[in-house]
Amino acid sequence: MPELPEVETVLRGLQKSCLGQWISQVEVGHPGVIVGKPETFATGIEGRQIAAVSRKGKVLVAELAGRDNADEAFLVMRLGMTGQVTVEACATPVEPHTHVRMQFEGGEKELRFRDVRRFGRLRCSTRGELDALLASLGPDARQVTEKEFLLAMRSRRGAVKSWLMNQQMVAGLGNIYADEALFEARIHPLAQPDRISAAAGRRLYKAVRKVLKKAIELQGTSFRDYIDIEGRPGNYLPKLRVYQKTGKPCPRCRSSIRRMVIAGRSSHFCPRCQRRPRQVAEMRGPRDRQAKP
Ligand SMILES: [Zn+2]
Repeated sequence: MPELPEVETVLRGLQKSCLGQWISQVEVGHPGVIVGKPETFATGIEGRQIAAVSRKGKVLVAELAGRDNADEAFLVMRLGMTGQVTVEACATPVEPHTHVRMQFEGGEKELRFRDVRRFGRLRCSTRGELDALLASLGPDARQVTEKEFLLAMRSRRGAVKSWLMNQQMVAGLGNIYADEALFEARIHPLAQPDRISAAAGRRLYKAVRKVLKKAIELQGTSFRDYIDIEGRPGNYLPKLRVYQKTGKPCPRCRSSIRRMVIAGRSSHFCPRCQRRPRQVAEMRGPRDRQAKP
């Protein structure tokens, strides 16, 4: 569930507290969260220094420098649904579902990866593996230009809601911010990307940027498990306008917010501000796929 603003918040925390740290020891409690063999993962990371941290979409990358002329390595972290990355004193009691601990040299602090549902993944990658992974993602939702954004919508069918969440198109959005951006842009979640007008496409582009910027300023949304690296929740929750607001009044027109399932995911929208496009209404029938509030 962490999306771009939450991952960006974690990234900023890591930049503040982990840059320059040497990793002396890696402990893997649950191999299920590691891509590849846990032993290879641990030996790939131990004895290296965190030289840089970056992000593309929801993927976090720590660049690890070795001593002498060792090859560079990259720690790639995906938070999945409930993954949490924290930096804590080694003496702090370890919470259940903490699957990986990386002790920093000096023995005082460590990075911990906790994940209740275990959809998150950690991986030690070579430069080639990292490049391939990042190339499989579309442009980052904060970096994408309006031109790239509109281009990616061309000849895309299906629901714009699914398109927004497709990481190969634009990387970083999930269910929360896709719903919020579509509401901001007054676009129905079932609208088809290649049939959205250029004006509406530009509106959506601006809405995505606006929603993400504000959410980053407020350190993201904590619906359930998300916390930053110091264990603090995000502050964007009270700013949500449609996500999980089924039956509540639309903040713009007071109509009841509706919920609808698209590709297995809940979508929340205002039926008045976000008019259902005609071709979709004809194709599917007016009441088809509409979930009860
Ligand atoms: Zn409305």
